[in-house]
Amino acid sequence: MNPSPIPLNPQLEQIPVYQPGRPIEEVARIHGLAPESIVKLASNENPLGPSPRALQALQAACATVHLYPDGHAFALKARLAEKLGLTPEHLILGNGSNEVLELVGHALLRPGVDVVVSQYCFAVYPLVTRLFGARLITVPARNFAHDLAAMRAAFTPQTRVVFIANPNNPTGTCAPPQELRQFVESVPPDVLIVLDEAYIEFLDHPADFLPAIREGRSPNLLLVRTFSKIYGLAGLRVGYGIGHPQVVAALEKTREPFNVNRLAQAAALAALDDHDHVEQTRAINKAGLRQLATGFESLGLPYIPSEANFILVRVGNAHAVFESMLRQGVIVRPMDGYDLPEWIRISVGRPEENERCLRALQLALNR
Ligand SMILES: *Cc1c(COP(=O)(O)O)cnc(C)c1O
Repeated sequence: MNPSPIPLNPQLEQIPVYQPGRPIEEVARIHGLAPESIVKLASNENPLGPSPRALQALQAACATVHLYPDGHAFALKARLAEKLGLTPEHLILGNGSNEVLELVGHALLRPGVDVVVSQYCFAVYPLVTRLFGARLITVPARNFAHDLAAMRAAFTPQTRVVFIANPNNPTGTCAPPQELRQFVESVPPDVLIVLDEAYIEFLDHPADFLPAIREGRSPNLLLVRTFSKIYGLAGLRVGYGIGHPQVVAALEKTREPFNVNRLAQAAALAALDDHDHVEQTRAINKAGLRQLATGFESLGLPYIPSEANFILVRVGNAHAVFESMLRQGVIVRPMDGYDLPEWIRISVGRPEENERCLRALQLALNR
């Protein structure tokens, strides 16, 4: 491609375009398949679909989309605050939690600032870091998981942000709660810890940092959560950050006025209280993780035990396997962009979807 005649932000040269999971519509078009025959296990979406309560709220909210949303999302923040035992001043909402990560960039990152991440971290952290011209310090993983001690040791005087996803995407690994607590306590007060808890609802015994935030003991901790995964609302884009009111107030300045739309606010509010949907999702996910792991074992494929709603499996030539599965109507995620060229990531689906995925994998491998 020719360079742009308009002099661009030089940071853009180092930024690849994010490669999302292939959409069902696109795969149907390119491979001549019926969209309903395609199984998408590529973006860690909820295989049960959205919460029925959220759907109802969504339909009701449609009649008022001529009105701007509540820019402060009063109702959603109030319910979230109540649930978490916090105040609305502890909460920042985003157009997906991805936007909350970007607001961190606006508030804290610029040339001269360092950001610490782990090898195999969520792809958005390097993108945000580079977009704002900060320097990325990538710490080697240990057994595919975050090496928290090494990450702490990698801090420089210029370090202002450390990003940690727990469980991590794409590895599905989780830090032992005690280690994570020690890490959080060891971080200097002038470094923001962004603890991305996109998959926390899938854990049986998560480390709970809400008391530390409630009591003001961790003013440099920002938890980030989302409605995209267990709540099944990825298409609506709503996520949130939980932190000290001073950090939240800084992020609020960088937020555009109506970042979370009306439909998303209404659906998220309803989904929050749909415990049945959340419990069913947790159960189907546990069973699906076992089903996939058992399938990998019988195919003789190494995998990384996962605590989330996806699993990383080593298949050899991942790109060829990915393409073959795609032709069979099963969308998974090759991991070359994550420096894991022999691995694919498979999101947990319903039992019959997992079964089709395993059969497609077997065919792709000729086993
Ligand atoms: C999926 C995911 C998110 C969620 O992104 P949204 O913008 O809320 O859809 C955030 N962090 C990690 C690690 C994820 O895997």
